[in-house]
Amino acid sequence: MGDRLHGGQDTLAAFKHVLGADRVYTDPVTLSLYSSDDTPRRCEPAVVLFPACHADVEAIVQIAYQSSISLIPRSGGSGNVGGAVPVPGSAVVSLECMRRVIEFNPGERLVSVEAGIVTADIDQCAHTAGLFYPPNPGSSAYCRIGGNIATNAAGPRSLKYGVTRDYVLGLRVVVGNGQSLTTGCRTSKGVVGYDLTRLIVGSEGTLAIVTEATLRLVPRPPSSVTIRVAYVDASAACRGVLQVMCSPITPAALEFLDDQSIAIMDASTRESLPSRTKALLLVELDGDAQEAGRAATLLADALADDSAIDLVIAHTHDESAQLWEARSALSRALKRSSRRKINEDVVVPVSHLAELVAEINVLAARHTLPVVTFGHAGNGNLHVNIMVDPTSVAEERRAHEMLHELFSAVLALGGTISGEHGIGTEKLPFVALEQTPHVLNLERGIKTLFDPRGILNPGKAIPDDRSPEHWDTAISGTA
Ligand SMILES: Cc1cc2nc3c(=O)[nH]c(=O)nc-3n(C[C@H](O)[C@H](O)[C@H](O)COP(=O)(O)OP(=O)(O)OC[C@H]3O[C@@H](n4cnc5c(N)ncnc54)[C@H](O)[C@@H]3O)c2cc1C
Repeated sequence: MGDRLHGGQDTLAAFKHVLGADRVYTDPVTLSLYSSDDTPRRCEPAVVLFPACHADVEAIVQIAYQSSISLIPRSGGSGNVGGAVPVPGSAVVSLECMRRVIEFNPGERLVSVEAGIVTADIDQCAHTAGLFYPPNPGSSAYCRIGGNIATNAAGPRSLKYGVTRDYVLGLRVVVGNGQSLTTGCRTSKGVVGYDLTRLIVGSEGTLAIVTEATLRLVPRPPSSVTIRVAYVDASAACRGVLQVMCSPITPAALEFLDDQSIAIMDASTRESLPSRTKALLLVELDGDAQEAGRAATLLADALADDSAIDLVIAHTHDESAQLWEARSALSRALKRSSRRKINEDVVVPVSHLAELVAEINVLAARHTLPVVTFGHAGNGNLHVNIMVDPTSVAEERRAHEMLHELFSAVLALGGTISGEHGIGTEKLPFVALEQTPHVLNLERGIKTLFDPRGILNPGKAIPDDRSPEHWDTAISGTA
């Protein structure tokens, strides 16, 4: 397989020379394991490389730059949009061996880590000094900070605490010509030059390979209270979201679940709900015990009006965990389905949430596709899971049409087509719905400055200047 690499055996030998032969893999099993992410899209790379330090990544990019080899940065491989899926003849650069905590400094409230550290391990480290790393994607137990930075990952807590970008103080990266850069600073303030750190966060591996990151930490909230509210319809639940957002309280999390989500919950959760339940809100309040308890009482009073048919407050850790487990089990339940899940992450202003949910239901009925919707309602960010029979070309086509209509509706409501997953390859056909040709050209120019030969994760995040119809056909033809 190595022969498919530009430069063939000579390039392989160069990689082995800088990394050692035991960090350069071309065997069929490894190539297959690194051919996909959490989407069904697959493409085997020519080689998988496992750098052990920043200098290794620098050497890899320098070799690739000389030989024009496409590099696919990869961390945990849990991405939902095909971002870490290789292109033919490419080298996957897996950061997973680079998982050291370089510096943990509680006094400065920061931690510097290598890009391959598992996200949950950062919070574990912070916990030892009463600190907290808030971004918590549902995949925290196996995704890695490099991937989180590249996708600007978020999660339920982003309502109160913000997203990955809000915690990145500085980065160490290698850009497309093999040059190393250090961006940002170690202080909580800094305004020298352009903010390259924020530009690289969310750039999906197309501008630079992140090798190290300095992250901001915050004090750990000692206590939390969870409230579950049941409604007879989704629009009442969306009004509940607005009630919360109009109050002086900012919950750590405010999640919405529609009737289809409730239908796939485990039997004991469903039995604990009134039979008329068609939508749920889960609200988490944190702070010191008194503060969280007072906020919970205030919100419960506000939410317990005629439209809410059931309201449960979980005060203990175990009770809370039980309520949240029902929410986290949803992704796993959908994954077990015989249908393929197309998982979207659209966002609208919270005041338009009810219209979005109504539109999703109209589209699901029109295209006769099962759709399960849940997500981070406090951010207006819903996961719209379109469940498709993978053996049916007609269903795939209807799903593609539905996506087009969904994204158009989201944009008409003042929203964005991706809140946290990014574009990867899966959403390339739709980027031009949101961004003007002028903006796209500027972005292509920035890409060329960082990556003059276009070797860093080609064909991801920013569509090239071929027509939207080209991407439409390319994607629907291969998905
Ligand atoms: C069950 C489940 C739940 C999820 N829940 C959430 C959620 O709540 N919130 C959320 O935001 N996402 C969620 N995701 C999506 C996914 O976990 C995130 O996008 C995550 O940030 C990807 O991290 P990763 O380490 O797996 O990256 P990968 O999948 O390996 O890569 C993702 C992208 O980042 C690039 N990349 C990876 N490492 C680097 C690097 N070092 N330098 C430059 N570019 C790099 C890749 O090329 C690719 O484009 C979920 C996924 C699953 C399967």
